[in-house]
Amino acid sequence: MIDVTDIIPLDIPTESISDVACQGAHFDDISGIWYTEPRELNEALRGYAYDVDTFNVAAPYYLVITSKMHCWSCHQPTRIHGLMITRFMKQNQDGKGWLSVRRNTFLFHINSLPDEIKKNIKASNYYLDKSKTTGLRYWMNHCEICGERLGDYELFCLEDEAFHQMTVEKILRANVRKVNKLFVSTAGNPADHAPKDVVRYLCDARFVMNAPASP
Ligand SMILES: [Zn+2]
Repeated sequence: MIDVTDIIPLDIPTESISDVACQGAHFDDISGIWYTEPRELNEALRGYAYDVDTFNVAAPYYLVITSKMHCWSCHQPTRIHGLMITRFMKQNQDGKGWLSVRRNTFLFHINSLPDEIKKNIKASNYYLDKSKTTGLRYWMNHCEICGERLGDYELFCLEDEAFHQMTVEKILRANVRKVNKLFVSTAGNPADHAPKDVVRYLCDARFVMNAPASP
């Protein structure tokens, strides 16, 4: 738990670590994140910070997992993309302080991403859109064939062939790309018409084994 409301995570390449440690950057050894505070931000550290106003999740690196599923609408196979983090910080519910976590976790219902991250995800069918059913605005998968919106609640929270309870067989067939750069985003913002709703944005990535075929 980091008992500071405003932190500024820093994207530090390995070769610069000794420099920034001398410039007042702090290291959180659970999440693996280098950060500073607004009152400590100096010219030397500013170059390592992203240009973002608000965020509630930060991770020192992230994995872009590209898997396949059959579209609910046209039933054709389409690629789908999910972001996984294994060490991260998340802002506490009351907006004060941060919790450091080490756990294989999918991040979804992502409302905003800095340009640095958008350009590293590189997926033409994953973009900001609004859900017809819930009114949530977030980075969403779309069918590559018919364009149908493939909502995160179904992909990450319901048991099906997507990311929720993804099998070991499925993750081995997926394309897993590690991006060794700082990740920050805002996720889990409620819809405009229901500002008090709590929207889930993290779930464990478990990779279950398929049951053995019966004899
Ligand atoms: Zn489709």
